[in-house]
Amino acid sequence: MRVELLGAYIDDLNMDETVEKAAEFIRSGRPHRVITLNPEYLYRAQARRELLDLVNSADLVTADGTGIVWACKIAGRPVKERVTGIDLMLHLCARGGYEGWRVFLLGAAPGVAEEAAERLKQQNPGLVIAGTHHGYFTDAESGRIVEMIRRAGPHILFVALGAPRQEQWIARYQPRIGVPVAIGVGGSFDVISGRKKRAPRWMQRLKIEWLYRLIKEPSRFKRQLVLPKFALLVLRRYLV
Ligand code: UDP
Repeated sequence: MRVELLGAYIDDLNMDETVEKAAEFIRSGRPHRVITLNPEYLYRAQARRELLDLVNSADLVTADGTGIVWACKIAGRPVKERVTGIDLMLHLCARGGYEGWRVFLLGAAPGVAEEAAERLKQQNPGLVIAGTHHGYFTDAESGRIVEMIRRAGPHILFVALGAPRQEQWIARYQPRIGVPVAIGVGGSFDVISGRKKRAPRWMQRLKIEWLYRLIKEPSRFKRQLVLPKFALLVLRRYLV
């Protein structure tokens, strides 16, 4: 079932169901796009129709972040649970370890995707790393990278270019790549590689992961100003 929030349709699936859906996509062999939707993206999409269209044309949209889960509740259309990009990536790689799935990691600074891939392989020996490439390339280089991914023949393509560039890149090149599951995962490679730390569990439980990121990276302050604006928009739209 899909629930509507500020014009975006979100799949009401928990983590296990989301992974199962991805497994279905892989079995079908046809290309699919997955979006982990966070408040920042959804807020921006209110003013940029093309960003909303990318969400509503995706094959699977997850509620990435406490803000989205909260907003769905306020809107009277609660979703089962938060399914973030990084958690989904880790769960898909764990399942991939049993299934022998091939994964390709595209994005982050030079060296990071390789380090993340190495860690994933250590944790999930059955997982096959089909390839990696950093995320600092020009539009003109995209053709070469697309060809590289196509040849590597992954089941899953993880793209960490930051939102919304990763969603736009996937939508543009997915028809040529034809990978069964293509998914944007933001800063996940930085965390999986060990270069950046994720908020401690207690902060995740208190739903203040955003505060941790703000303390660690004060430059995110401007970006995070979107969060109260998003909250206000939700309250105004659904409560007033
Ligand atoms: N990135 C990239 N190419 C770029 C800009 C960013 O590969 O041209 C990477 C960056 O190194 C980081 C990720 O994209 O690993 C974005 O991380 P961020 O934490 O900003 O993601 P978000 O908050 O969107 O999940």
